[in-house]
Amino acid sequence: MNSQNRTDSIRQCGLIGNPVGHTLSPVIHNRLAQAFGHNLEYQPMQVEPEDLEKTVREYVAGCMAGCNVTVPYKSAVIAHLDCLDSLAKEIGAVNTIVPTAEGLKGYNTDMPGLLRAMEEDGVKIRGEQVLILGAGGVARAVALLMLKEGAKEVYLLNRTLEKAETIVQEMQAVMGCTNIHALQLEEYNQLPLGHNYLAIQATSVGLYPCVERAVIEDVEFYKRIHTGYDLIYRPAETKFMKFVKAQGGKAYNGLKMLLYQAVIAYELWHRVEIPKELAQQTYQVLKDAVEQRKE
Ligand code: NDP
Repeated sequence: MNSQNRTDSIRQCGLIGNPVGHTLSPVIHNRLAQAFGHNLEYQPMQVEPEDLEKTVREYVAGCMAGCNVTVPYKSAVIAHLDCLDSLAKEIGAVNTIVPTAEGLKGYNTDMPGLLRAMEEDGVKIRGEQVLILGAGGVARAVALLMLKEGAKEVYLLNRTLEKAETIVQEMQAVMGCTNIHALQLEEYNQLPLGHNYLAIQATSVGLYPCVERAVIEDVEFYKRIHTGYDLIYRPAETKFMKFVKAQGGKAYNGLKMLLYQAVIAYELWHRVEIPKELAQQTYQVLKDAVEQRKE
């Protein structure tokens, strides 16, 4: 790695989404580029739905070293790609596009990013009784991860029951499993007794600026959670995490997931391996950037 001699041509990378103004991805990619001496330009692009195809086919295919995709296009973008990595296919969502010899290829680095983050935090999945709160885009990937990594039972709790049921049916079809179940959010008191749960908070409740809210606000619920993993990272300690800790559990936020989904994307685009020390330094830069943000 060399940050002194930036002699290579510009590596144009970007992010497609709407909105994109809040993104922290440039902080991560620029720090990694600095360490490798890559001449990188990371450009967030706010794209309207009618311009998605044109942006992908003309701009991304034409001049980009790689591109990220965020809400609301992680599924919609698939129609405009040439091929998919097998994991992205299973999840049904793409957050990273890589130009390859076969054309634009879609990957999902959210799920392996969360796995790396949980491994680093020492959070075990195998054999666990897992609750996933939420049934949106990211919850689907989390459900697949939990099943693939050997969770014993997975309960998906969501305000809109039908969405949880849809994910359960899809997972049963993809994985051929029966150990995933859907519940209405308010039905948490129907969870089997006698277990302590690993809970993944995958709703948007508690996200800045609504920091005084948790998706479930009943202390009794948190007595049954040994570890809470909130995918939200702003604020750094969510109300959900406070509830978990107050009942003696361990709690983590989603900043490491954000870091590692970007680290894996960077590795795919630039064909490098990012050492653990560099990832940890970048994590510190990211933490500082989150703390400095006022809104
Ligand atoms: P979606 O919009 O697809 O899903 C939102 C989820 O939150 C749904 O399950 C929705 O329930 C639930 N929800 C929203 N408002 C309420 C409410 N008032 N009460 C109960 N449930 C509610 O979002 P994503 O799945 O893309 O993202 C979810 C969270 O994960 C976000 O906060 C996002 O910031 C975070 N995230 C973090 C990442 C990271 O790298 N750390 C990566 C991706 C996401 P319903 O179905 O009933 O509407």
